[in-house]
Amino acid sequence: MSDPLTQPVRGFRDQLPPESERTAALEHLARQVFALYGIGEVRLPTLESRELFIKTTGETTDIVEKEMFAFSDAGGRHLAMRPEGTPGTVRAFLDKHLNQQGGACKLFYVGSMFRAERPQKGRYREFGQIGIELFGNPHPAADVEAILALKDLFDRAGLAGRLTLRLNNLGCDESPECRPRFRERLREYLKSREAELCESCRRRLDRNPLRCLDCKGDAEKLTGGAPRLEPCVPCRDHVAQVSAFLGDHGLPHTYPDPALVRGLDYYTRTVFEFQAEGIGSQNAIAGGGRYDSLIASMGGPATPAVGWALGVERTLLAVAAADPEARLLRALAPERKPAVFVALQSQDPRAEAEGMRLMASLRAAGLRTAGGLFAASLKSQMKEAGRQGAPVCIILGDEEIKKEPPSCIVKDMLRSQQSEVPLTQVPEAVRRRLETAP
Ligand SMILES: [Zn+2]
Ligand SMILES: [Zn+2]
Repeated sequence: MSDPLTQPVRGFRDQLPPESERTAALEHLARQVFALYGIGEVRLPTLESRELFIKTTGETTDIVEKEMFAFSDAGGRHLAMRPEGTPGTVRAFLDKHLNQQGGACKLFYVGSMFRAERPQKGRYREFGQIGIELFGNPHPAADVEAILALKDLFDRAGLAGRLTLRLNNLGCDESPECRPRFRERLREYLKSREAELCESCRRRLDRNPLRCLDCKGDAEKLTGGAPRLEPCVPCRDHVAQVSAFLGDHGLPHTYPDPALVRGLDYYTRTVFEFQAEGIGSQNAIAGGGRYDSLIASMGGPATPAVGWALGVERTLLAVAAADPEARLLRALAPERKPAVFVALQSQDPRAEAEGMRLMASLRAAGLRTAGGLFAASLKSQMKEAGRQGAPVCIILGDEEIKKEPPSCIVKDMLRSQQSEVPLTQVPEAVRRRLETAP
């Protein structure tokens, strides 16, 4: 059992450098890409009404049925930690009447999602997602734009040439010939094999047989003989056009890929998924699709929409598999190694105050500054400066401080040189040494 005072709850974890820096760098990269596409950020609440996910993600999905952190608060409200970002984004779209702003509305989100899945490599119960939702454009161009934004992001993170794109058509509920007919045929087929299904699939069979296709336990058994969706003509044309546009952009993909169903209820027509090399069997790193009926089903104005979400942890695993150094991401992370280390050789409290002031003036000059271990001996302060790899070291000693003007020793650690510099000129002197560093 874990120690509650020193260990996180099972399935949760702390992120420290360099992992936390890679996460931040991926988020930073995403923001750069989204700016190119004119996508604005929505910052969503972590808690939502449980009802929201039941009505959108779907009551019979694994996510809602088995994996959601749901509870009642002290006021008796039924709440849930968000397991995915689309429901909250759509709720915000409706709440703020974003459809009335005219034209397309494009939003992205970045943040933690929560699912009580069995923890394993690259899968945590709190995990990062980055996602986009494009509202208002029914044209296949919107599906392609969404996929290209994802592809651009992956390419810049160092995953070019290491991804497989799968594309499928889930049809619609508008045409009785489309998904409604498929649902009936699938239900009949599943009834004939009912004995082989898991308990939750037997329960889902009548209400939502489509969900059996992405059941973790049963999907494999069913892929062979299960009937396939024959989309209505508008659905067929739509996704065929998406596929053709992707071809225009030189984006290889598998289409149709009947095994690709996605574990959410709201998708219509286009669904897609990116798989990455080198990270084992849990290799889907991002997925999404079109959801043209969801907003109307929530009581809003009929609004076509398409979106995706990527899993931050699995994406970073894929990046690490491509380049263990994660050079592209690391280039985006802010440097933390100090440029200058301030040490003190004095018992005089005024010298300590001078040291603190000097550190503040170095930071104000934009220099990464470390030090301030004024209780330690000079020897151990210098040892720490060496450990942190600071190329310049300042030593404040009684003798130099008493001079007029008050001064200190500036040690150039790379050249093994040192000189006496007036305190007011230290930031400039440090900068000069760094600029000419060997
Ligand atoms: Zn259709
Ligand atoms: Zn099942």
